[in-house]
Amino acid sequence: MIACDLCIVGAGAAGITIALELIEAGLDVLVLESGGLEFDPAVQALARGRSIGAASDALDAARLRFFGGSTNHWGGFCRPFDPVDFAVRPWVPDSGWPIERADLDPFYTRAAAMLDLADDDFSVARWRDALPPLFGGPLFEGRLEPVVYQLSPPTRMGEKYRGALERARDVRVMLHANLLRIGLHPGRRRVMRLDVGTLEGGRFGVTPAAVVLATGGIENARLLLASRDVERNGVGNGHDLVGRYFMDHPSHHAATLLLNAPSDDARRPLMRPVFPYATLREDVAREEGLLRFMTTMHVGDELFDEPQGYVALREIGRAILRREWPADLTGRLASLAADLDGAAEHGFRRFFGRSGTLHLRIHPEVAPNRESRVTLGDETDALGMPRPVLDWRLGELDRHTIRRGLSIVGAEAGRTGIGRLRIEPWMLEDPFAVPGIGSWHHVGTTRMHDDPRCGVVDREGRVHGLDNLFVAGSSVFPTCSMANPTFTLVALALRLADHLRRWRPGAG
Ligand SMILES: Cc1cc2nc3c(=O)[nH]c(=O)nc-3n(C[C@H](O)[C@H](O)[C@H](O)COP(=O)(O)OP(=O)(O)OC[C@H]3O[C@@H](n4cnc5c(N)ncnc54)[C@H](O)[C@@H]3O)c2cc1C
Repeated sequence: MIACDLCIVGAGAAGITIALELIEAGLDVLVLESGGLEFDPAVQALARGRSIGAASDALDAARLRFFGGSTNHWGGFCRPFDPVDFAVRPWVPDSGWPIERADLDPFYTRAAAMLDLADDDFSVARWRDALPPLFGGPLFEGRLEPVVYQLSPPTRMGEKYRGALERARDVRVMLHANLLRIGLHPGRRRVMRLDVGTLEGGRFGVTPAAVVLATGGIENARLLLASRDVERNGVGNGHDLVGRYFMDHPSHHAATLLLNAPSDDARRPLMRPVFPYATLREDVAREEGLLRFMTTMHVGDELFDEPQGYVALREIGRAILRREWPADLTGRLASLAADLDGAAEHGFRRFFGRSGTLHLRIHPEVAPNRESRVTLGDETDALGMPRPVLDWRLGELDRHTIRRGLSIVGAEAGRTGIGRLRIEPWMLEDPFAVPGIGSWHHVGTTRMHDDPRCGVVDREGRVHGLDNLFVAGSSVFPTCSMANPTFTLVALALRLADHLRRWRPGAG
């Protein structure tokens, strides 16, 4: 049996943030992490589950199970939630957070440093010079406005912060240690013991004064639901809320903007350090009764990276200009041969090109939906834990927001003479009828609310009814915004760490 003051379960974005913050906080901290320092297929197989709702990627492809968690392959897109994301919006059922944007402001500043962003300023004014000209033009003088994302390098939190945690004398990290069960005191008010197992068959117990569950939006729910020996429906699930209200961002190519005058934006690399999106102005979304709607307007397919063939061609060309022998010539030629189309198309656009089309990839908010949920299935994993079943449900307001959002973009493009919008026909029929529409953002399954009948955790992240169990990560978000979750979940983790530094048993 291992005793500690605080046990953090999961060493991903949230868990590592809290552990770092509690170095030299006067607490004996134990971090349990399921994986090792590298990807291991046997460990990753523990993340498998069934998806029976809207088509998203397989559950074991949508997160990573080793030290650093899903930050080992995240894209680094960061943007804080806006004040309206925290507000009650009468046309969005179950909207509203118990905290406000101002409560998170100081933590966003610290989260920006943690994720290696330039700073905490995401305003268009700050980044105007880095944005393609389109985003400063007439298209954004009516019902649309630009919003700015900053791009983390992306910070691999395991790699970057491993050394600091190894050096800390008051933080122990146990790898290959899987939480199996949260054991409650018979009085049901506190966690008494955690049962932990290894894939090699080892079993041991931890007796913590307090626990933070930071295993990601699906596993947080899975572990609470699977811990049933004292509470029949699972820990923290007295009101049948654990696992419900699951949200992700549907993201897919949705339309093409055919420009009346070809755009010079083709010449500009859109990525790093910022990436612009187009969104409906807040008052427009309110008047129309819509969720928040956001879309890219980008050139070609190189949303995430330049095509590998083009990169190879460019590097060979640069070496020749420097009269040097190109480094890794064989590898570069192989990349070029494998991607001649990418090299030709992208190269033409960069050097001669003015593009006549822009691609729109949508990334809207979806509404909280009680029936959209994670439950436990009949199958078990190698540790005997029930596998999760994800039933992601999307509703009429989600569909309406996408259709209406696209048609407003089209109308604005026509009104300003920018061009015409060709919306993919299936977007208008059913925007969710394509495979793989998720963004690997797992939100809402342990939602935050002051009232235990409406939320699993309170405004600090403490599970209602339990003195010493906290949840960290995007599972606590009551609504999902249109922005990606990690920047906000790191800010919330920093806030929880401040709370835990002051926390003492019985203090709530
Ligand atoms: C391909 C991809 C791209 C993404 N891009 C972006 C992006 O651009 N911007 C953005 O904001 N977000 C992005 N995300 C989402 C982002 O990665 C997550 O929001 C973030 O990592 C969640 O942090 P977390 O700490 O809650 O969970 P994770 O980072 O997933 O960490 C959870 C940790 O818990 C461990 N664990 C699980 N179960 C147990 C157990 N029973 N016992 C012990 N340990 C356990 C896991 O091994 C893991 O290390 C992306 C995700 C993916 C998959």
